[in-house]
Amino acid sequence: MRRSHIGEFELIQRLRQATRVPRALRGSVVAGIGDDAAILRLRPGRVLLATTDLLAEHVHFDLTCTPYRQLGYKAAMANFSDIAAMGGIPRFVLIALALTPRESPRDVEALYAGVHAACRRADVALVGGDTSASRRDLFLTVVVLGEAAPREVLRRSTAHAGDHLYVTGTVGDAQAGLELLQARKRASSYLTGRHLAPTARLREARLLAENRLASAAIDLSDGLAGDVRHICEESGVGCLLDARKFPLSPALLIHARSRRRDPIAYALSGGEDYELLFAVPPPKVRRVEALIRRRQLRATAIGRILPASQGLRIIGTNGSVRPMAAKGYEHRVG
Ligand code: ADP
Ligand code: MG
Repeated sequence: MRRSHIGEFELIQRLRQATRVPRALRGSVVAGIGDDAAILRLRPGRVLLATTDLLAEHVHFDLTCTPYRQLGYKAAMANFSDIAAMGGIPRFVLIALALTPRESPRDVEALYAGVHAACRRADVALVGGDTSASRRDLFLTVVVLGEAAPREVLRRSTAHAGDHLYVTGTVGDAQAGLELLQARKRASSYLTGRHLAPTARLREARLLAENRLASAAIDLSDGLAGDVRHICEESGVGCLLDARKFPLSPALLIHARSRRRDPIAYALSGGEDYELLFAVPPPKVRRVEALIRRRQLRATAIGRILPASQGLRIIGTNGSVRPMAAKGYEHRVG
């Protein structure tokens, strides 16, 4: 494939060095980078989960406030999060790049160092990709393959009226972090870190999937309002969220106050938290609550699934119930 000023062959040689398959995965990667296609082995009886994201410069990320390393890390982690939201284990990643004349070999190495850091945290192997050129904007496509036992898979479409809604971690932090980065302020490294280097909730997802504790799940990429709507639409149900219960970090509260904004707005429409939103059937609630008490699961109950006729509603911080606005969130990585 045609490339700009780094020879493609040389690039691939470097990648092979920089991205050796971790020992634990050698059994499943029969052939990785170097042949026409990777040869991968799944564990017996597992289904393959496949997901991809295409990230375009100036649409999804801005290199003036996102270093290459973080771009690579985050692109990989966001796809791991999609596999986690399905109750699966991410195993393999492929990266396709359209590089501009501006990217130096060092930039590409930084990008792969980020991908590699994400892969190390999640025990994922880089097994292939493609390299091409672009005249002006950088394009980055990530493909992640994961696996799950068929009965453990978590869908968006299987929530039922009466289920309890939980969310992991805290919500709204990534949006606040992005605002700080755009304002060139590092007032909170916690918040900027939540934007630049999110952590997919892989362990939490496995715990829920293995113990069959959740009826449905999604990862938060658009904010609670948008993502709970996905679950409700796919499952044909309504919901009642309680904003008074939203898990908000101290750093977010300080940030929102300094901008004279309602912190709940960050939780509802802030993007890219990569927390898990999941529904728990009533007979499983006691077990989930016990896991939370024992600190084996960091999650908070934030509402219930209701029949579709009830629509999507929210109890505000003043206790009044109102319909939930479909506030979208425009994607930007950095
Ligand atoms: P083809 O022409 O068959 O697409 P390439 O020369 O593009 O083959 O790729 C050769 C090998 O290098 C393949 O195994 C491919 O997966 C890998 N590869 C190419 N580009 C990348 C990349 N940007 N990241 C990771 N692996 C890559
Ligand atoms: Mg190719």
